[in-house]
Amino acid sequence: MPETTLCALHQVTLVSEPAEILYGVHAAGRNFEDARTGLFPNSFLTISGGCFYSPDYPKHKQVMCCRSCREVERSWTNLMNRPFSETFD
Ligand SMILES: [Zn+2]
Repeated sequence: MPETTLCALHQVTLVSEPAEILYGVHAAGRNFEDARTGLFPNSFLTISGGCFYSPDYPKHKQVMCCRSCREVERSWTNLMNRPFSETFD
């Protein structure tokens, strides 16, 4: 096990934080996948738990993530969720 792992993008140490586990089939979308790869590769705000769900399954899991990536993902998500008319004011 490596002692520390750095976010290749932000050069900060990854920390253990909870991620929300998503079950079922998710269409995150091409835009999200592109943004994640380029902007927040170590965010892991959500992770896939597989296609099946049972109420017994855990809702969160500790993951090693980059806090800078998480901030970027939240900002990116807020931007994408804004009404279209506000985006280009
Ligand atoms: Zn990062």
